Amino acid sequence: MNKWVYKIQRFMMGRNGMDFLSLFLWILSFFLTFIHLFIRKNFILYMGDAFLLISIFRILSKNLTQRRKENQAFLKAVNPVTERIRTMQKQKKDPDHRYYRCPKCRQLVRVPKGRGRIEITCPKCQNIFEKKS
Ligand SMILES: [Zn+2]
Repeated sequence: MNKWVYKIQRFMMGRNGMDFLSLFLWILSFFLTFIHLFIRKNFILYMGDAFLLISIFRILSKNLTQRRKENQAFLKAVNPVTERIRTMQKQKKDPDHRYYRCPKCRQLVRVPKGRGRIEITCPKCQNIFEKKS
């Protein structure tokens, strides 16, 4: 094995490593640096640097419990967004059906298209809700 790969692996042992929140901060930082090309305000650059530093700190951190907690909280916060993207992706691949989320348990429900207003029974929690198909 390459000596440097081994050294880096040893260094990263017991550390948090890259997780979703760190990746997001990293991308956000690059995005802000990019924005700075068009809006020449220093605070945009500082903000980008701050996000990058937080990201690096989180990757190298050995406090795994705390870092995992932060990551989980972040995933929970962005869940409505990722849920919506997932629904849209499914909808795009399947134009003959409509996809809805059960308002009670967030289960994804598929119904045939073009039936007008219909009552949908959630297969997971049996909640009944009305939608236009
Ligand atoms: Zn449900």
